[in-house]
Amino acid sequence: TPGALDGRVAVVTGASSGIGEATAETFAALGAKVALLARRAERLDAVVARIEQNGGTAIAVPTDVTDRAQVLAAAERIATELGEVDLVFANAGVQLISTITDLKVEDWDAQIDLNIKGVMNTIQAFVPSLESAAAAGRTADLVTTSSIAATRILEKFQVYSGTKAYISHITRLLRTELGRKNVRVSTVEPGMVDTELPDHVTDPDASRLMADLIEQIDVLQSRDVAETVAFVAGLPKHVNLTEITILPTQQI
Ligand code: NDP
Repeated sequence: TPGALDGRVAVVTGASSGIGEATAETFAALGAKVALLARRAERLDAVVARIEQNGGTAIAVPTDVTDRAQVLAAAERIATELGEVDLVFANAGVQLISTITDLKVEDWDAQIDLNIKGVMNTIQAFVPSLESAAAAGRTADLVTTSSIAATRILEKFQVYSGTKAYISHITRLLRTELGRKNVRVSTVEPGMVDTELPDHVTDPDASRLMADLIEQIDVLQSRDVAETVAFVAGLPKHVNLTEITILPTQQI
């Protein structure tokens, strides 16, 4: 519903493409002021321009979320320019699937640094603000992007799945502390979404596997996930939809 996020101050990581971009646009369309974080500044500027054309409020905050100091600096800038953050979508992630025996250690590190440490840096930078917003009686949300890979046994997904299992589980654990403080914590576990995610895979067989799936079935679009995240954030304050699995209807 229009106006569902009026008065909210949101942060979206990974907002330069795919799920994060669509979610930033959806949050803004529903009335939130949105800070967009990712590394590609020109892409962020283009999304901000589109949001503003549609009457929304957004700022681009170019940030590498694997760098703790950069995320803390982003949080300071956002607090000054938009106010106290009460909605955080910790979504930036990378999927570099390969067989473990190929020992693609750089790909392992990249996934752990972004999918785990990047989310922890985001938590460090914004949980104090969520806690403070909730204490002031406002609705406060931390939403993470996990994946169905968190629970499934999929060949070549070992390190990626491990990082997403971490995200799903830490999200459950965070609730034990933050829920009591009236900060809602949720995770969304999507199946196949048509985004730039497969473009970074360095294993040709694994890339083909994903390209084939996109051709064979009617996969999710980023907007499908964005609308789900916005629904979660727009629920009444006492309702915490904690774990959401969203799949293309034909994906098993
Ligand atoms: P995209 O590749 O389109 O988006 C990834 C986003 O993360 C980009 O905006 C990218 O921007 C950003 N990013 C990458 N590295 C960094 C960094 N170091 N600091 C800040 N931002 C960074 O893929 P998706 O939209 O699909 O991915 C979003 C999330 O969804 C990920 O966590 C992914 O694991 C998850 N997911 C995706 C699924 C799918 O099928 N697509 C299924 C299940 C989960 P930039 O390069 O400009 O920094």
